[in-house]
Amino acid sequence: MTARLIDGKAVAAKVRAQVKAEVARLKDERGLLPGLAVVRVGEDPASKTYVTSKRKAAEEVGFYSVEHHLDASASQAEVLGLVRQLNADARVHGILVQLPLPRQLDSEALLLAIDPAKDVDAFHPVNAGRLFQGKPGLRPCTPAGVMRLLEEIGFSPAAKKAVVVGRSNIVGRPMAMLLLAADATVTICHRKSDLPLEIGQADLVVAAVGVPRLVKGAWIKPGAVVIDVGINRTPEGKLVGDVEFEAAAQLASWITPVPGGVGPMTVAMLMQNTLAAARSF
Ligand code: NDP
Repeated sequence: MTARLIDGKAVAAKVRAQVKAEVARLKDERGLLPGLAVVRVGEDPASKTYVTSKRKAAEEVGFYSVEHHLDASASQAEVLGLVRQLNADARVHGILVQLPLPRQLDSEALLLAIDPAKDVDAFHPVNAGRLFQGKPGLRPCTPAGVMRLLEEIGFSPAAKKAVVVGRSNIVGRPMAMLLLAADATVTICHRKSDLPLEIGQADLVVAAVGVPRLVKGAWIKPGAVVIDVGINRTPEGKLVGDVEFEAAAQLASWITPVPGGVGPMTVAMLMQNTLAAARSF
């Protein structure tokens, strides 16, 4: 292996420590305690794990942290009522509705009901629009975490050719917009793209696809930085990314492992977003 590993676990710990120090300062100087409310509906096991790790991180950095767990049969009106109540709650600066929601609920309508100033997942169209227009605002946690990883390794996207594989609203699109804002020349790839051609020209590849080892190591331009957002479970129960790691690591200059790369950054950036939301009040 020639690539250096990007240690997302270490960077995430650093981000959380910075947030914790800032929380202490806000408390001292302004008597302000940032608050994060997480809404979970039903018993999706993955959601339970995610919410637990978010709550643990929130408590560790010193936030006011509250979880609202509703029954799987909760009605749209009930969840909407809770979101509105949290919008009006001065102790809460960040609201997160954990997806996926049970079938009877309209996720989009619920996400739209969150006050954009408290939308720490940054999935609300107002925040997506601000990012698209190059205006300040809350940024989606996973792509923001990727930007932080790039900063940590001293990679400046300016004037570089960046290829983002995937165009979801959660990862691919906001990732491309953040890289554009950082002055990269950005190509967004999807199912109809010629991946070997595009990736072969990229100084930076961000894979956010959800297909195990789709991005072949041999496609990587020598010296490129490779960021693997993918988290896929193999039939044997192993976690693998969207990139053929071993082969890509032969050519890349830097690469994220899966797990331990982008994964831990998402929760850390959620803490940073909650802090930012609290500061803006
Ligand atoms: P989505 O399924 O919403 O989007 C996947 C994207 O990949 C789509 O734009 C799709 O293209 C594209 N795609 C799928 N197959 C191919 C293919 N064969 N060739 C080219 N493009 C393809 O996924 P997400 O963006 O939500 O997640 C992507 C991955 O990132 C998943 O593994 C997920 O688990 C992981 N993830 C990790 C997070 C973390 O680290 N904390 C957070 C969020 C996600 P098209 O639009 O043409 O259909």
